[in-house]
Amino acid sequence: MSIAYLNGQWSKPEDAKISVFDRGFMFGDGVYEVMPVYHGHIFTLDQHIARLKRSMAEVRIQSPLDASAWKALLEEAVSRSAEHNALIYLQVTRGIASERSHVYPEVSPTILVTVTPSEFDEQTIKPISVICKTDFRWARGDIKVVSLIANGMLKNQAMDEGFDDAILIRDGLVTEGTSSNVFAVKDRVLWTPPKSEYLLHGITRDQTIELARGHGLEVREENIQENFLKQADEIWLTASGLEILPVGKVNGQTVGNGCVGETWYLMKKAFQEEILKAIEKID
Ligand code: PMP
Repeated sequence: MSIAYLNGQWSKPEDAKISVFDRGFMFGDGVYEVMPVYHGHIFTLDQHIARLKRSMAEVRIQSPLDASAWKALLEEAVSRSAEHNALIYLQVTRGIASERSHVYPEVSPTILVTVTPSEFDEQTIKPISVICKTDFRWARGDIKVVSLIANGMLKNQAMDEGFDDAILIRDGLVTEGTSSNVFAVKDRVLWTPPKSEYLLHGITRDQTIELARGHGLEVREENIQENFLKQADEIWLTASGLEILPVGKVNGQTVGNGCVGETWYLMKKAFQEEILKAIEKID
């Protein structure tokens, strides 16, 4: 069952109401996290809380809770929802201020948590088709802010043109997807752009790198030229709600042999094992 927590109140998500003066609504003045739940357990919870704290510090929203209180709240949300496989959205905005001003008001942050059943089905994964688009977003993609208007524009432009998604290019280099990080595989070496202010430091990205290295694969966190995508044997998008998603076509051109690649299969299996290990550790 989907559930929401808004500033101390539990309800159905559709019954949770935010003030028109909430700065998340007025200015997009807030940060968020998306976390996957597998078998009732929040995967990579500590990493998500650490990134949330970093995002809040960057935009100077004082964390209303400490790490253990965040954990307790999120775990309570999952337990109340009784969902086994779900996505948690946690949004923290600066709070409610009736005066419209760019100057930060002294107010308490708004906390919204929703848990919704996951629609992710690993049995039906099929390679997607992407187009490269100029990354015209702001230059702080490393902060996970709620204002996703540019990401939405780029995704919808790609879809209007008949693609599933876009890979974003800044100054000839790959940054990330519209809601994911990008990996390219060439001769069994994994390439992914290095962490910078232009892209989100994805938690699935970190997991993928760690698992790949643990399985003896070479990983290079180095810039990827747009042209390199044409030569790649495999391309993947990674995100908490997607895990590792294969890309079958870039700009209309087939990637590798167009099918899901052997390195993807290896990583997919490693990822599933990691999830099971995490669950067993908690149980
Ligand atoms: N980049 C962007 C722009 C995203 O929205 C996301 C998904 N939240 C990611 C990367 C992947 O991050 P994560 O693996 O932490 O979900």
